[in-house]
Amino acid sequence: MRLSKMFAPTLKEVPSDAEAVSHQLMLRGGMIRKLAAGIYDYLPLGLRSIRKVEQIVREEMNRAGAQELLLPAVQPAELWQESGRWALYGPELQRLRDRHNREFCLGPTHEEVITDLVRRDVRSYRELPLNLYQIQTKFRDEVRPRFGLMRAREFTMKDAYSFDVDDAGANASYEAMRQAYHRIFTRCGLRFREVEADSGNIGGSFSAEFMVLADTGEDAIVYCDSCGYAANLEKAEIASPPDAPFPGALQPMKRVPTPNQRTIEEVSAFLQVQPRDLIKTLVFVADGRPVVALVTGDHEVNAIKLQRLLKANVLELADPATIERVTGAPVGFAGPQGLKVEHLLADYSLRGRGNLAAGGNEVDVHVTGVNLGRDFTPTQFADLRQAEVGELCPRCTGGKLLQQRGIEVGHVFKLGVKYSKTMRCTFLDEAGVEKEMIMGCYGIGIGRTAAAAVEQNHDDNGMIWPLPLAPYHAVIVPIGKTDGPEYQAALKLHDELEARGVEVVLDDRDERPGVKFKDADLIGFPLRLTLGKKALDQGAVELKRRAAAEFELVPLGEIVAKVDAIVHEAKNVTTC
Ligand SMILES: [Zn+2]
Repeated sequence: MRLSKMFAPTLKEVPSDAEAVSHQLMLRGGMIRKLAAGIYDYLPLGLRSIRKVEQIVREEMNRAGAQELLLPAVQPAELWQESGRWALYGPELQRLRDRHNREFCLGPTHEEVITDLVRRDVRSYRELPLNLYQIQTKFRDEVRPRFGLMRAREFTMKDAYSFDVDDAGANASYEAMRQAYHRIFTRCGLRFREVEADSGNIGGSFSAEFMVLADTGEDAIVYCDSCGYAANLEKAEIASPPDAPFPGALQPMKRVPTPNQRTIEEVSAFLQVQPRDLIKTLVFVADGRPVVALVTGDHEVNAIKLQRLLKANVLELADPATIERVTGAPVGFAGPQGLKVEHLLADYSLRGRGNLAAGGNEVDVHVTGVNLGRDFTPTQFADLRQAEVGELCPRCTGGKLLQQRGIEVGHVFKLGVKYSKTMRCTFLDEAGVEKEMIMGCYGIGIGRTAAAAVEQNHDDNGMIWPLPLAPYHAVIVPIGKTDGPEYQAALKLHDELEARGVEVVLDDRDERPGVKFKDADLIGFPLRLTLGKKALDQGAVELKRRAAAEFELVPLGEIVAKVDAIVHEAKNVTTC
């Protein structure tokens, strides 16, 4: 491929509306262009990287026994009404009407469509298990699409759905997908981590996320420095302290005037106590009803854990009027004593603690000497707080939790009978009894994986593509005039590499070397082969890896074999 002929319009300036590094660099490198908010053109270089992700995904899905099909992007509303999600999905679902005024949506996911297909055509246990997947365009009408391919409104996803006769079969299907995902992201050349995750609004009993590790990632991950435990921060469990009563002598509860002291910092400074000796009393509204959550002042309540515990559809912090109604005091003076609520939930951090300080449920008043059991009795102790760096691992003894950031690129769910029950997706078992199929679903964001590769691998000069996802493996840069000996040698090298199956670009543009090097770095070709007079006089080529600071001189007679070996080694990553 000649660079002079390639449609790869690079930009010198950083586009003003691009926040994420991958978005900036993919625009600058001529890989994508924005058509509308969250909707992108994939240019030839960008499409090549996206196709490479797809191909690795396809090969590993097939290897795991999944079968590829292709479902429509346009889906009738009836199916979504049947599953109940037409009402629940909200404005992210892109809805439309046809000329007969029938309602449809552009699919953000395909559980309904695939369940409908399978319920119509699968009758017997003999036809199961099944794992069906597609690589297809999805639509999600994001409020504020941003970060380029990381959070687009129109995007490419691989989605797979498994159907099994029982839990054991469903677990085996889930496990096969987990292993396939490990092979996929390993073959992509990415550093990643599988983490325990929250099931979110898809529902289901268990799920894991695959995170590409990058400092710019939106998700926080905690992991153990000693065992394999890793979880999304939203889900990360806490090693609960022993369930022992407070060992000290109980002080009497005492009112203390605390004018205008509302925050944990203000109150702990004013009362001269540590934040861990304060009770943080938070009022939430769960499905319209007030609930109170208690943690010690050195911790944060994790609203997702609270919501899961309460099995609430909607959970919000209470507004000031509700707080005043529940506690009798304005915001900043709430305490657990004397509250009359259905749920007074205490975090495990309060077990075995005593003589604490809390809000007085009265304006400008706090109380000290507050004690569990005497002054208040939680309706339940539970894991309600956010995990923190440095604390003990919930899985092993002795490990400490560390934190890193990641980008979610894949998600595996055990769905159970969520869809097969509401949509009557059943089969007849060996005894002729009708049963619901046990389902799983498994997604990978294709464009997102490409963008995550850039978030993880870049520097000030541009992208540093892992070789398996690079649009081309190598760029050849001849220095000098287009009719000179350097150019002739470059042309020969280009043809020889191409004949070996190396994907190579010849920068045949009539440009200064500095311009060529800048573009090569920006686009991020993994290998750069420079043919200059000085090297050629020694019968050699400069070989520079994009990620390395220095180049090496390789004899002309050895360069083809060397590049071939590097490329094929990277492509044949051995996986579990
Ligand atoms: Zn551990």
